[in-house]
Amino acid sequence: MLKRFYPAYIYKSVADIEDDFFKKHNIKNVLLDIDNTLVPYTLEKPNEFAISFINRLKKEGLNICLVSNNSKSRVTLFNSDLGLNVRYRASKPLTHAIRSAMKSMGAKPSETAIIGDQLFTDIYSGNRMKLTTVLVEPLEAKESRFFQLKRHMEKKILSIMNNK
Ligand SMILES: [Mg+2]
Repeated sequence: MLKRFYPAYIYKSVADIEDDFFKKHNIKNVLLDIDNTLVPYTLEKPNEFAISFINRLKKEGLNICLVSNNSKSRVTLFNSDLGLNVRYRASKPLTHAIRSAMKSMGAKPSETAIIGDQLFTDIYSGNRMKLTTVLVEPLEAKESRFFQLKRHMEKKILSIMNNK
């Protein structure tokens, strides 16, 4: 029942994903969340941290698509210097944006990873699509009460998962 929310891999941040991770798991395509995964919500443009991770993926020859539930204006501004493939208003955990991104990349589920900070959107949608799911800790702790409740529930699920 809770399994649908379990990530396959957990890292403190995208910077902690091992050098050989994508090769080892035969990943050729990466769907990347933006908010609290690459940058805090409050940052409009990619910082050094985000750019260096994206450059690493590019260097490894991976196809990249930013898949965000945030607005067109947020995602477009964030991507303005990156020029990546994007899907905004993705409505994760619904899968239509992910399907469309994967179709545009010619991506097979077995060769695709999704990286994000939320169990109920990023990880759940990735599991629904049978992708390799990678959870990172949110970059920014200061969030609304609604998000705090979600975080609380996420922590509970992860602790159940870890105790199995
Ligand atoms: Mg996020």
